[in-house]
Amino acid sequence: MHRPMSDRFSRRRFVRLSGGAAVAASLGTPGLVRAAAADDARRAPRHSNVIIIGGGLSGLMAGRELQRGGVDSFLVLEARERVGGRTLNMPIGGGHIVEVGGEWIGPGQNSIAALIDELGIGAFDAYYEGDTTYDIEGAISRGLLPDISLAEGADFAKVAWQLDRLCKQMPIGEPWRMKDASALDRTTLGDWLREHASTSFTPSVFRLISRAVMSGYPERISLLWVLHYLRSAGGILPVILNDGGAQDQRIDGGSQVISERLAADLGDRVLLGQPVLRIEDHAPDRMRVVTPVESFTADRVIVAMAPSDTARIEFTPALPKPRQALVSGWARLPRLPLVKAAMLYETPFWRADGLNGSMQSDRSPIQLVFDNSPEDGSIGVLSCFLSIVECPHLADRRAREEGLKEELARYFGPKALRATGYVEKDWAADPWSTGCITPLTPGVLTAAGEHLRKPTGRIFWAGTESAKRWCGYMDGAISAGARAANEVHASLKA
Ligand SMILES: Cc1cc2nc3c(=O)[nH]c(=O)nc-3n(C[C@H](O)[C@H](O)[C@H](O)COP(=O)(O)OP(=O)(O)OC[C@H]3O[C@@H](n4cnc5c(N)ncnc54)[C@H](O)[C@@H]3O)c2cc1C
Repeated sequence: MHRPMSDRFSRRRFVRLSGGAAVAASLGTPGLVRAAAADDARRAPRHSNVIIIGGGLSGLMAGRELQRGGVDSFLVLEARERVGGRTLNMPIGGGHIVEVGGEWIGPGQNSIAALIDELGIGAFDAYYEGDTTYDIEGAISRGLLPDISLAEGADFAKVAWQLDRLCKQMPIGEPWRMKDASALDRTTLGDWLREHASTSFTPSVFRLISRAVMSGYPERISLLWVLHYLRSAGGILPVILNDGGAQDQRIDGGSQVISERLAADLGDRVLLGQPVLRIEDHAPDRMRVVTPVESFTADRVIVAMAPSDTARIEFTPALPKPRQALVSGWARLPRLPLVKAAMLYETPFWRADGLNGSMQSDRSPIQLVFDNSPEDGSIGVLSCFLSIVECPHLADRRAREEGLKEELARYFGPKALRATGYVEKDWAADPWSTGCITPLTPGVLTAAGEHLRKPTGRIFWAGTESAKRWCGYMDGAISAGARAANEVHASLKA
């Protein structure tokens, strides 16, 4: 499918309150809360029916859905000076961008497909013609599949089938209701693999999948959470397949254009540079939302961000214990510090060598590589996901650029050393996002999972982590935003 993208948005249409994000990022939150509280005494807060916190896909979709339902009095408060959250287009010159956050979409992602259709944004097939490069258990091979023995292939297929069958026993979006949920939540993916795999190849591939797709190590993440994640995507295949799976297509103009278009439609209801510091019960029927810039009152609040990111917000009264457990459970997991980088070339030279530019490794500092060149192939771009915790020698940016070139040359030949540019986004260093996808450690889902979507008084929860389908993905963010808006709508009517 390829459709032209209609009229671009104008950033000037948003109300920009610069400084808030920078201030909040550089100062300690309690001091800011006190300053904002003192300010409150002097200024009457702005009131609206609904305040949405977070101008990522989920929060902006919530706004769109409220508007569609006839609720016009709402504001979206975004901490950063931009919308899009975990999606980000980085300009690389010559009118090109690279996406250094969420990027690919695939079959079965009906919410994002419907939304881009409505917005008139096109999508195109990602490039997968030719051989994929594998670096698994120290052996580099090329082909459709890694070069493995029959026994290794059979073992992997058996284990993947068992995991798939198990995940399909789960009620979608309600892992805590699954038979034996507690036992599955006490176990890690690593423990389960030790019991079920009979070759070393199978755990190595699952380590690759776990690190690259779920942002966690098999020995740290709850098996129940893995099943929930896979179930929400329709099984293991949609998650691991590139062509025909979750990495099937790319968005014309880069995925951040979706948020930019949503925000443009919402106009001056989107306030940038407004990091929320505190949400409190204000009066019997009102909430107060405080930022370093201003304070607001609202009848309902939608929080549209990752649960771990809400740890930076002070709630008064305190959130119920299970919701707190959810937030701290998510925040506690040492996340895999993740950099998404792009090495730029004059041409996608690997294509002429019969390679599709994809590389998957269980041990290289680069977990995954994708051909991320523009659709017309006018320049070459290799996008790399790398986990810097495993390679301290790549801790600084300059070392990373050089180290990455050398690593890419191992997979794609010496031409990979002749890069024309390099860009990257270190999500671990981002003050507003807790990484890419945030997995859960054992015990959290069964103890507190029910509170993922359950409203807390007049606070409603959105964000991709609360989605029933494609949780962790852009699609999940969109459906979760729409669902939260519908809950608010019903609650306002009631
Ligand atoms: C490197 C990377 C690669 C990815 N690849 C893919 C992919 O290929 N396909 C895919 O579908 N998904 C992918 N994802 C995941 C996808 O980007 C996310 O699922 C989706 O963007 C989440 O949207 P969201 O609105 O739920 O949350 P977010 O995008 O995190 O939005 C939350 C918003 O809240 C704001 N915020 C935070 N704190 C405050 C505060 N105190 N006050 C006000 N605002 C605040 C943030 O600035 C942010 O804008 C990737 C993510 C990353 C980082």
